[in-house]
Amino acid sequence: MLAGTDDEREAEALAVGGGQAGEARVLLGGEAIQAGGGLLAHGLGGQLAGDRRPAGQVGVRADQADAGLARRVLDGPHERRVQRVDAAERPRRPRRLGDPRRRLEDAREAGHEGVAVEAVDRCDVDALGRDPPEAIDCAALSARVTVIEGCAIATVDDERREIADGHIVCADGRIAAVGAGPAPAAGDGARRIDGRGKLATPGLVNCHHHLYQQATRGYAQQGTLFEWLVALYPVWLHIDDAVVDAAARAGLAALARSGCTTSTDHHYVFPRDAGDLLAVEIAAARAIGLRFHPCRGAMDLGASTGGLPPDEVVEDRDAILAASADAIDRFHDPSPGAMVRIALAPTSPFTVTGELMSQTAELARARGVRLHTHLAETGDEEAFCLEHFGVRPLQYVEDLGWLGEDVWLAHCVHLDAAEAQRMGASGTGVAHCPTSNGRLGTGIARVPDLLAAGAPVGLGVDGAASNECGELVDELRAALMLARVSRGPAALTARDALEMATRHGARCLGRDDELGHLSVGALADVALWDLDEAGYAGIADPVAALAFGPTRAVDLLLVGGEVVVQDGELRTADPVTLAADLRRQSARMAEWSAR
Ligand SMILES: [Zn+2]
Repeated sequence: MLAGTDDEREAEALAVGGGQAGEARVLLGGEAIQAGGGLLAHGLGGQLAGDRRPAGQVGVRADQADAGLARRVLDGPHERRVQRVDAAERPRRPRRLGDPRRRLEDAREAGHEGVAVEAVDRCDVDALGRDPPEAIDCAALSARVTVIEGCAIATVDDERREIADGHIVCADGRIAAVGAGPAPAAGDGARRIDGRGKLATPGLVNCHHHLYQQATRGYAQQGTLFEWLVALYPVWLHIDDAVVDAAARAGLAALARSGCTTSTDHHYVFPRDAGDLLAVEIAAARAIGLRFHPCRGAMDLGASTGGLPPDEVVEDRDAILAASADAIDRFHDPSPGAMVRIALAPTSPFTVTGELMSQTAELARARGVRLHTHLAETGDEEAFCLEHFGVRPLQYVEDLGWLGEDVWLAHCVHLDAAEAQRMGASGTGVAHCPTSNGRLGTGIARVPDLLAAGAPVGLGVDGAASNECGELVDELRAALMLARVSRGPAALTARDALEMATRHGARCLGRDDELGHLSVGALADVALWDLDEAGYAGIADPVAALAFGPTRAVDLLLVGGEVVVQDGELRTADPVTLAADLRRQSARMAEWSAR
């Protein structure tokens, strides 16, 4: 095939293995992974280690190379994923989703298209800010070194590097190296993971959940949010430590199997004499092995004073504030690498008083913890706020001091365009829960507007009573589908969804300095997805395969470098026992609901 245009020459160079050892093989949409990571489509994961090609070389059948070239020309440059190497122009900790297409467009407008295209394919590793392999003396590191090699990597780092065939070295709980080609020497004691045919991403971050609801799935299947809540409050009145323990373990296990390494939980039902429920779920998270940000929730606005929940399930405001301070004292760990951090989280405008909202904000800010609540989930909530407070939900919480970079809000479905701008301007985060929004028919959040405004938008599964699946990787696809149903197919990309599930989620939880990206020095929270099977065959772009392809369990999950899932199986608990315990506790809840 003659390579006439710049596009064709560039694609041909990729197809015939024009890369040099030590260069990053950056993915360009599907094409570069077709070139450098053709192993994903052609099952090289089964080859012996000795068959591996040297770094920088590619292995694509001629017909596949042609297919990649044809597609590249067809798609045009505006469809490509581009990485720039000009360090001076690199965004540091961008406050919104990066748009790689815009970077290329900027270069073209400036008359530097050739430079930009060259940069894409001849990326110098050092220029991208990665430590050169020789600078990392893995052999000198202590035990607990894990080396993953041969995998595609979507780093979601500051430069959004994507590597067709690379390595990750984890040591002492953090990432010691990530880059193209084989890993630097790591000593004989290192655990070595064959990553061929797999995609490594940052561990996913779940920004909204109610773990106890794992024991009350399948209720009020046609109910609106308010109908669903009214049906479930009387059941939830009876939760206790045994229910929370079984539900939390099962829910966290489902999250782990779906690639989640950090989860929050919004627990707001504290029946009298139910036990130390926050301690129980923290113990469950420790046992399963996930990083955990439980929110001390609360309700103090019962039905007799105009709220939605029955009086029996609400607490006294002073008791709530005392319990919130106690939770911070007992469990909050502000240190780097923390496994547990507390947030404070009155439940919603229709279940708590304004006084509790404002006093909770004061307490959280005095103690340096974050704030979380539900907001603008339904039209019913909007009507409630207008009737009771005379303002829309966002104005209501803004007046109570509840916008800011230390706040993230679940749902935000019913915001108008100006409100989305206020979210972005204030740095307030959003936990987007597309499956739950679909299950309850609440509407479609204006995610593209929120992202464009600069708001961090993480993903959440929400409680399993409104998302019976409770698996986080599913939310990537659900977010894509909902946004596209609403705004068309360009509304959200597969990479946008991955970024939301990782670094945006980390930013919602105040952890983006060390979570949500695969960068040297970040915590070693890694998800490795096996894409070398029939369900993904022929999808050349591994990020698209993950976001659009079939759902399956993560192959390997590391939290702080420790194995939680391996070979697709949970290694920290017995799934059969978890299921039996959950079944038993769900039956207890069903008995209560039948009375
Ligand atoms: Zn919720």
